Amino acid sequence: MQGLVMKSSKEAVQAAAKEFIQFVNRGVSPYHVVEECRRRLLDAGFIELKEADRWDIKPSMKYFVTRNFSSIIAFAVGGHYLPGNGFSMIGAHTDSPCLRVKPRSKRTKQGCLQVGVECYGGGIWNTWFDRDLTVAGRVIFKSDTKLVHRLVHVPRPLLRIPHLAIHLQRDINDSFGPNKENHLVPIIATVVQEELETGGGSSGDATCANNTADKHHPTLVNLLCSELGVTPEALLDFELCLADTQPAALGGVYEEFIYSPRLDNLHSCYCALQALVESCTGDSLGNDPNIRMITLYDNEEVGSESAQGANSNLTELILSRLAASTSNLTTFQQAMPLSFMISADMAHAVHPNYQEKHEDNHRPLFHKTLFLKLGFIFST
Ligand code: ZN
Repeated sequence: MQGLVMKSSKEAVQAAAKEFIQFVNRGVSPYHVVEECRRRLLDAGFIELKEADRWDIKPSMKYFVTRNFSSIIAFAVGGHYLPGNGFSMIGAHTDSPCLRVKPRSKRTKQGCLQVGVECYGGGIWNTWFDRDLTVAGRVIFKSDTKLVHRLVHVPRPLLRIPHLAIHLQRDINDSFGPNKENHLVPIIATVVQEELETGGGSSGDATCANNTADKHHPTLVNLLCSELGVTPEALLDFELCLADTQPAALGGVYEEFIYSPRLDNLHSCYCALQALVESCTGDSLGNDPNIRMITLYDNEEVGSESAQGANSNLTELILSRLAASTSNLTTFQQAMPLSFMISADMAHAVHPNYQEKHEDNHRPLFHKTLFLKLGFIFST
């Protein structure tokens, strides 16, 4: 009997893990993460709002708003909510350390077409060598008189950052510290193959480029355009992350591990999103005096200072808007001490090969612990 219970609870955990894996495999850039959240929220009956519009917020209703297509705030209004009541919030971030295509990426060396990339956030960059990489992000192009934003994710391997052969660096296993400007540059094609394929070819760099087509190799621009069905002339700009084409998967002999990129912090984004959506399926929302909210921000990995980051005015503008009352000018100030936010992020389990990196009495163990880092703000 106990075995049966354990088996069914394992199946439930694995079903949840598989659902998360689908989320992380789709969330290949912050733009894709927000789009996936948006899709799930719309499916769950949430209503999309725009910052620039007038809002008519009603009790027991559910809403969300995005900024820059890379941050998203979703909220469900308690049935007993009145301006001045609190906000119950979970915060997480949509971005992860990665390599990103530089604004001028065109490089050519030794007969190879290369794509200049920059390091975004604090990554372990040597893990990006010898991986089958692709690009994912957003493209802005002209359509008649409008600017159009579209997401792009090429599913096949396009780029590779090859290691130097062992024969030319015998000490590689003692220390490996790649020069981020010279050694961390992916190859997208050879000049010879480019000439065979296009009859023309590309070479040089983007030193003197002053339009998008000249800042990047035509082969990259053409690929993006064919994915989106637009002409290269219409393309204005893009922001592209590099991503591994190997999908996330359950691993270990008992499939107890999630082998995945972007766990920090898509796991928290996913849990916050599911928590909000599932909390609204019963009748507890109707009795709640608070607003339930999740805030999923871009740019946490680089300091949160951008217009859509956690340190921007986004949260305060939305909270003050929801707390506003025509008859009482201090409802926002009243609401703040009645509110709380869980800042959700990943903690590192103790590594069996590096156990000395954790203090003896504070070792996060697999299957054992949920981690809380506590910080208190007391209000009188
Ligand atoms: Zn994080």
